[in-house]
Amino acid sequence: MKIIMLGAPGAGKGTQAKKIAQKYGIPHISTGDIFRANIKGGTELGKKAKSYMDQGMLVPDAVTIEMLLNRIQEADCRDGYVLDGFPRTIPQAESLTEALNAMGDAIDYAIDVAVPDEAIITRMAGRRACLGCGATYHIQYNPPKQEGVCDVCGQELVLRDDDKAETVKKRLDVYHQQTQPLIDYYKKAGVLAAVDGTRDLEEVFQEITAVLGDASCQ
Ligand code: ADP
Ligand code: AMP
Repeated sequence: MKIIMLGAPGAGKGTQAKKIAQKYGIPHISTGDIFRANIKGGTELGKKAKSYMDQGMLVPDAVTIEMLLNRIQEADCRDGYVLDGFPRTIPQAESLTEALNAMGDAIDYAIDVAVPDEAIITRMAGRRACLGCGATYHIQYNPPKQEGVCDVCGQELVLRDDDKAETVKKRLDVYHQQTQPLIDYYKKAGVLAAVDGTRDLEEVFQEITAVLGDASCQ
């Protein structure tokens, strides 16, 4: 099962993608996490990505597409995956479609997690991230067991630089201009499912599993 998570930054894509990955036994692939791991590791890719990310802009398509297409060819992706944060532009979506078509394959579901901008601002201010394992929390809606510490790996949780209010506004602009058109793209492809992302995160997950069904990966 090949799934794409669509939605604004902070809509809950990562939160839901992790739950989907666990339930269906497929890898969760977050391009944001891959970039952050590269920044932390001081790689060339990380150096290229950092300045764009810090400004709330998208990393250029050429870099991002190559990275993602390489990732989905790894062995753990054989039975499917859930993509979180990719595609974010029409050229990214077209490249993915073409690469899958060439293998006689296609995306099964594109899930749009819909949340209005006002709610996004509150969510981002309260988001805390683990840069060690990529887990995310919210100080109010999804707190860790121990304040400031990751439940999964025990590392310290941080407010991401790009979750500060000024950068969030820029990221929302970029979302509306460059990423929102993907909703139409996947609607035309006949694989779009929209869920109400303003509800409690367990309710959102129930709505998603109602779409995906109980089958394990295909
Ligand atoms: P995205 O991956 O789309 O950027 P996240 O999954 O990191 O978004 O969620 C953004 C923030 O909102 C996090 O702090 C997360 O814990 C919180 N969150 C996610 N889903 C919900 C929800 N349904 N209700 C309230 N808060 C949520
Ligand atoms: P995320 O963790 O998904 O919120 O992504 C954090 C940042 O990483 C984004 O604001 C972009 O700068 C960059 N990024 C992640 N995914 C992509 C993508 N598909 N295309 C371009 N930039 C991306």
